Amino acid sequence: MKPFTVRLRFHGDLGVFLGSKAGDAIIERRLAEKTSIKDIIESCGVPHPEVDLILVDEQTVGFDHTLANDAKVEVFRVENRDTVSTEKRLQATGISMFVADGHLGGLARNLRLLGFDVAYRQNAGDRLLLEVMARENRALLTRDRRLLMHSIVQHGYCPRSQNTDEQTIEVIRRFNLSELIAPFTRCLRCNALLEDAAKAAIIDKLKPLTKIYYEQFRRCPGCGQIYWAGSHFQKLAKRIKDIQLRVAGETDQ
Ligand SMILES: [Zn+2]
Repeated sequence: MKPFTVRLRFHGDLGVFLGSKAGDAIIERRLAEKTSIKDIIESCGVPHPEVDLILVDEQTVGFDHTLANDAKVEVFRVENRDTVSTEKRLQATGISMFVADGHLGGLARNLRLLGFDVAYRQNAGDRLLLEVMARENRALLTRDRRLLMHSIVQHGYCPRSQNTDEQTIEVIRRFNLSELIAPFTRCLRCNALLEDAAKAAIIDKLKPLTKIYYEQFRRCPGCGQIYWAGSHFQKLAKRIKDIQLRVAGETDQ
């Protein structure tokens, strides 16, 4: 078969995946056999869950589209869905359940604080992550792009930042979660939904000063942890507010 050249242009921040070519979002690939567009894109370092729209010579195509001749390819990340018709978008919307890899404990905790269902175990191996993801239809959060390229991954995201709060903002924006934020509804330790608890029912578990100063409590039915609006609560509330303001600010641009 006659060799051919594919010229790919990566839009938005997909350039971050191009390694040494970061900042230069154009890559040329010389190929000698029929190849799927998904394989070509991933050979450039960009995991398929990060790709929401592909144009080949100005036509939208799916991941299984194959190339056998010279072509110009435009690759877009998930963002502003108003600009292009949603029909050919490759990523699903409305995903709000996640599984986070062991390095993203801070992000998992932040998302739980905002009320989101995040499966997380510090020592979970790749196999367990993929299993939980598939079985419970969760989106995979990981900075391991090789894992994100696994063929069974349908929904996923690679946080760009190393900073926990910035990662949280990225995930809220990527999955369009602003409207679904429900702070203090989920256990930060085990992910279960909290229940109101009568003070009388838990009073023997409280420290003397907490008994005196607080009347409203929530309890986790999963691990038994008791929550109340103590001094730690104020700090968390400020953190949530800050994250929400930053999401709103960045969305308006
Ligand atoms: Zn719990």
